[in-house]
Amino acid sequence: MSRNRAPHTIAVANGIGEDSAFGAVTPPIYLSSTFTFEGFERPRQYDYTRSGNPTRDLLAGTIAQLEGGAGAVVVATGMAAVDLSIASLEPGDLIVAPHDCYAGTWRLLNARRAKRQFNVMFVDQADEEALAAALARSPKLVLIETPSNPLMRVVDIRKIAALAREAGAKTVVDNTFLSPALQQPIRLGADLVVHSTTKFLNGHSDVVGGVVVAAAQTDAEALRYWANVTGVTGSPFDAFLTLRGVRTLFARVEAQQKLTASIVEFLNSHPAVRVVHYPGLPTHPGHDIAKTQQTGFGSMLSFEIDGDVDAVRRFLETVEIFSLAESLGGIESLVSHSATMTHASMTPDARVAAGINDSLVRLSIGLENEGDLLADLARGLDAAMERAG
Ligand code: PLP
Repeated sequence: MSRNRAPHTIAVANGIGEDSAFGAVTPPIYLSSTFTFEGFERPRQYDYTRSGNPTRDLLAGTIAQLEGGAGAVVVATGMAAVDLSIASLEPGDLIVAPHDCYAGTWRLLNARRAKRQFNVMFVDQADEEALAAALARSPKLVLIETPSNPLMRVVDIRKIAALAREAGAKTVVDNTFLSPALQQPIRLGADLVVHSTTKFLNGHSDVVGGVVVAAAQTDAEALRYWANVTGVTGSPFDAFLTLRGVRTLFARVEAQQKLTASIVEFLNSHPAVRVVHYPGLPTHPGHDIAKTQQTGFGSMLSFEIDGDVDAVRRFLETVEIFSLAESLGGIESLVSHSATMTHASMTPDARVAAGINDSLVRLSIGLENEGDLLADLARGLDAAMERAG
């Protein structure tokens, strides 16, 4: 129905004005866990909310359209989405994952490997030789995360998906850091896209959720079947809130990345900052790839404070508008310390291998006033530079 609409319009308007009962402009929320049969052996479209729910399906359909997929399954968390995307693997199968993936994904893959559910190779996917060596081992699945969390490394989705296909593997892309407003991996050759909808898609830090989008109808059906078998499907109330967030996705993302450009410029020339990781910087190693596969550079960045852990502590304890909290993609600005927070579940060795040191701080830029955010960071960095005692 909305096939020819621009993505921006799909996000804002999908399901609007379609209520046949009362003409409600906003789609109603269906919280019911169960649905009546019209009669004996005559089920309706929905019978039980674990298997299917109109509110959740509207969200799934909207995200599937935004990602250019054939279908999507909305699940309870981003981790449930990652787990669902790898559910087809069998003992002996190999998955190739990024060496610097989100620590929760790293933990999940290692935990399932420890139970011998499949094998995993963590590789630097920007290293062509390492990637070729991994693909030579005939993996079933290649998982990509670009830009990566928290170092914002960018890899070439089109290239890796093509190589994976040649090697007989499907490609899954975790698109959480950009959202479909800035990157659509299926259009670049990916088979599946996963999101923690907790982040940009919901955008208001009041829902934990996830989604898996499939390029092929058969994969979408297999995902739907397995999500019902394992019961990981998301709640209708969460789906309702997330759909409300999706309505403003494009407007939020555009405003947030505009603010981010100013913040990156400020940090990049600040004496207390050793390095800024942001794909929008021409000096960023992934800048050229980002320009070809992203339609914007987003509002996530990380940087290293030029100092020890005490300098980091002074910075984190001085900033006020940036809340010290995990997560990202909401309308409020957040700061986190990767080594002790988001990536604490990685071993110290794995963190070193991924390039995450103790001076690294990650920012998620929200929608506050630009001057207020810059002043907050300036105060924090002044405090970081003060000598203790
Ligand atoms: N993927 C990425 C890139 C993430 O950053 C996160 C969470 O931070 C997840 C997956 C997991 O999502 P959730 O916390 O909703 O389970």
